[in-house]
Amino acid sequence: MLVVDDSPSIRSRVVQKLETLDLDITEAASGEEALALTLDHTFDLVVSDIEMDAITGVQLCRVFRGDPGMADIAFILLTAASETKTRFWGRNAGADAYLAKEDMDEKLLPAIEQIMAGRKPRLSMRPEVKGTPLERVSAVLDHHLFEVVVQSEVRRLMDYVHDRDEFGDKVLELAGEVIGCPYLVLQLFGRGGPSYAIRARGPWPEDKPTAGLAALGIPEKSIGAARTTVASDPKYGSGPHVVGGRSHSCEIRVRDEILGTLQVLGGPSCCSPSDLRSVELIADALGVLVKSLFLVEETQLLALTDGLTGLYNRRHASKRLEEEIARARRNSTGLCVAMCDVDHFKAINDEYGHAAGDHVLQQIAKSLTEYVRRNDIVSRWGGEEFLVIFSEIKLAAARIVAERLRGRLASTPLGDEGPDKISVSIGLAMLRPGTTADSLVEQADQALYRAKARGRNRVEVAGEERRSRGSLRALQPSADAEHEQIGRK
Ligand code: GH3
Ligand code: MG
Ligand code: MG
Repeated sequence: MLVVDDSPSIRSRVVQKLETLDLDITEAASGEEALALTLDHTFDLVVSDIEMDAITGVQLCRVFRGDPGMADIAFILLTAASETKTRFWGRNAGADAYLAKEDMDEKLLPAIEQIMAGRKPRLSMRPEVKGTPLERVSAVLDHHLFEVVVQSEVRRLMDYVHDRDEFGDKVLELAGEVIGCPYLVLQLFGRGGPSYAIRARGPWPEDKPTAGLAALGIPEKSIGAARTTVASDPKYGSGPHVVGGRSHSCEIRVRDEILGTLQVLGGPSCCSPSDLRSVELIADALGVLVKSLFLVEETQLLALTDGLTGLYNRRHASKRLEEEIARARRNSTGLCVAMCDVDHFKAINDEYGHAAGDHVLQQIAKSLTEYVRRNDIVSRWGGEEFLVIFSEIKLAAARIVAERLRGRLASTPLGDEGPDKISVSIGLAMLRPGTTADSLVEQADQALYRAKARGRNRVEVAGEERRSRGSLRALQPSADAEHEQIGRK
């Protein structure tokens, strides 16, 4: 056991206290002397004063903790200081116990007993301890400073948690500055995931990037969503093949929740012990940020979508409609909107209850989403009203599509709790020169109103107020032909 204190009287008090334990006791009058002793002595336990000139007890403790040859030696810090900050610093130095000198008589022996009882057997083959005290203190300082700087740099990435792609790029840019491996892969779960950001410095098959991604273990179905940055660096060689070799992966987590992984891969020279520690350090520091990213994504989604159906909400649909109109004008393509409203929906609520009504709305939303093309936009405009934006379509085809949609919704499976079937009325409006988003929706609304007035379960088209009831049917064959041409279901 080693007792370190710059005051001979306190040192002898400590030694006296410990003599009852029947252990070999070595004394040191300073941190430097203690470190010099560790070069040719092995100790089980160090009891050190916290406040000493030059190397303090806290620094001494950190050198012990940071040195693989000494990290498992029990360490007790003693202090005369009652200063709050000293106590905080002492507690955080990594010591096994921290005692005030005035409590020593009462607490030192029980503390030692407790520590030694809970201790794992010492490694028989410890790494060799070497270096002058100054070199060893400086190495520990350097190491801690590095850690703190990396952690603070990671924390600065908080500025990017509103955008998963940008965040991924920035994380790997930073990781690439710290870690010397040819491939870095950040995998993120959460609502938008799993997604992959990859930074490749090693050989990358430019002509067949998917081969590269597959070689990095990216699942085939996620390859499309993986973002790859090729940061060319001649040091890592070139060529059309992907380097296999060693890999190391660290979970990114907050408490028990796994949020993603940070992985490094590469040739045999990759993954040095210092690289591995850096991966762990960065993955550790990323936990809170990735959690924030997920929360931001969740919030963004909530702001765009309707909670009951998961469809876009009215606000977002209005925005998208403006964009789609601008695009249709730019490309001179047609655009239609269909306002769909469930017939006598109030009666469904009244008869089967609100929950059954909700279920009907969810089924309709599902049916709508399945029906439309990928580029069409389905939204919940209000209670039991849904607005569908059909882009790149002509009126005749839109009329058929709307008519089929009406038929499809009328046969939507609704489950056992509510009605067997429902019907919807649809008002369809076509974008014309000078039409604004608001007026287009207004026209669809008016057409819908007419569909209701004319008996419900039907499609009415804006601008065809005077057309007779039979005309829609008369129009269908030619419109049908056009619809088939554009390849709709
Ligand atoms: P019409 O055929 O003329 O459209 O009659 P309707 O009963 O469908 O129309 P009305 O506007 O009179 O009633 C709409 C009903 O939809 C009233 C409202 O309570 C109900 N509703 C609105 N939002 C929701 C919802 O989120 N869940 C449920 N279950 N009902 C809703
Ligand atoms: Mg209704
Ligand atoms: Mg309504």
